[in-house]
Amino acid sequence: MQTSIILSATQSIQASIVAHESELESLDRAIGDGDHYINMTRGAHAIVEMQGELATLSPDAALQKIGMKLLSTIGGASGPLLASFFMSMAKTLKENGDDTTEKIATAFAAGVEAIRQRGKADIGEKTMLDVLIPIADTFKTLTSQNADTQLICNTLIRTAEQGMLATKDLIATKGRAAGLGERAIGHIDPGAKSCQLMIEATCKLILENKK
Ligand code: ADP
Ligand code: MG
Repeated sequence: MQTSIILSATQSIQASIVAHESELESLDRAIGDGDHYINMTRGAHAIVEMQGELATLSPDAALQKIGMKLLSTIGGASGPLLASFFMSMAKTLKENGDDTTEKIATAFAAGVEAIRQRGKADIGEKTMLDVLIPIADTFKTLTSQNADTQLICNTLIRTAEQGMLATKDLIATKGRAAGLGERAIGHIDPGAKSCQLMIEATCKLILENKK
């Protein structure tokens, strides 16, 4: 893994979040408090502004810095959850190394596990985890089968899309939407949507770089 790909990914993610402003805002207005777009764009902007500083760091140190920055810039539920993802991924990469795709998949899964523990949530509760848990599982399975980068990226883009769409029919049992009961049905979870966008932006970037 190289720090330069992390930096490019943060730019692609910021662009994708900004391009989906009205969608993210209206999803959180429907089943939350309407601030999810603002939270995500503030976080993405802060990270992109740190590019110079991040460029000098190893990938694990850069991801750790990103996590700390998100903790101090994103308010709401999503800030500490996403921060714990990056910090836990960073710790695992530091311990295990980052020289194979399998190690990156293991570190990604550790990040998702940190969100699960911090949020005390699991799959099927209409949160970002409905995207992230299937991604972590699929990523690990594909790397253990030595799948090539193109197959991994294309599969993860599809998996994220399916997980995000699946939140539409769920009742929320965590987060602000948990108070809505059946009224949450019919709306995609905003955190699931932003995570799907982040996965898609990163995978598309990696596919582009492969060409
Ligand atoms: P807030 O809910 O504080 O307004 P945001 O609007 O930024 O914060 O983020 C809301 C998103 O956070 C939800 O759409 C959901 O995906 C995610 N979320 C909320 N609570 C949890 C939790 N306990 N575990 C996992 N994800 C959660
Ligand atoms: Mg909100």
